[in-house]
Amino acid sequence: MNYRPDEINETVLPTPGRRQGLGERLVSLSGLRKTYRTEHVETTALDEVDLAINRGEFLAIMGPSGCGKSTLLNVIGMIDSPTGGRYVFNGTDISDAPERQLVDLRKKSLGFIFQSFNLIDELSVAENVELPLLYSGVPAAERRVRVRDVLELVDLNARARHKPSQLSGGQQQRVAIARAVVNDPKLILADEPTGNLDSKNGADVMDMLRILHEQGATIVMVTHSLSDAERAQRIVNMLDGRIVGEKRRPTGEQA
Ligand code: ADP
Ligand code: MG
Repeated sequence: MNYRPDEINETVLPTPGRRQGLGERLVSLSGLRKTYRTEHVETTALDEVDLAINRGEFLAIMGPSGCGKSTLLNVIGMIDSPTGGRYVFNGTDISDAPERQLVDLRKKSLGFIFQSFNLIDELSVAENVELPLLYSGVPAAERRVRVRDVLELVDLNARARHKPSQLSGGQQQRVAIARAVVNDPKLILADEPTGNLDSKNGADVMDMLRILHEQGATIVMVTHSLSDAERAQRIVNMLDGRIVGEKRRPTGEQA
């Protein structure tokens, strides 16, 4: 693969409005709880979590395996519903919102990047990226332009008609990033996005997240890598379902 991070086109993302409202509260969690119940065991995955995330912020979440990182990300991403506590997203209390409203918010406002890419192998690269636009009813002509633009951002236009299985892991994750941002989401959620990648491909993925953040995106990233976490502005540490510490990069300091 000939791709180099300095080839990333930094100008194509069509997001003139994204920088508006930078610094305002986007996510506010208070006393958030999540308990999983099976027939025999009850697991407390989130235990009174308080967390506020501002628009334009790049936040990393760290902690040992099983401490609740993915659960927290999935609750923030409205994939999973909390058992208790309060969740305010973009000014709206959605703690008890009906599923229909959450599905709608998820489609319009959130973009996900997973460790295992989660692409649909029956669809081409372009069709995978197009999917969120189809779900939100974007007209075909506009879909074509936006898919082309984000594939350009991740330098994969030449692979648009390939199937995901024909691509390297690093390329697949770049497709997943394109899919996550094609809808211009308010919030990008990444769960160990470099976890399945070698260091070079991992570095490319982190470079893309950096560029998206510089363009005004709000990003929450779960990671086991301290060097990846240090690219964020703030690192939150979790243990046993709780937030046990927080480190903020001094303002003005570059990652
Ligand atoms: P992490 O991402 O930090 O590794 P998770 O959020 O995946 O942790 O899991 C937190 C805890 O919740 C773990 O003890 C895990 O076993 C449990 N858990 C996660 N998902 C489920 C589920 N669907 N059903 C039951 N227990 C779960
Ligand atoms: Mg996890």
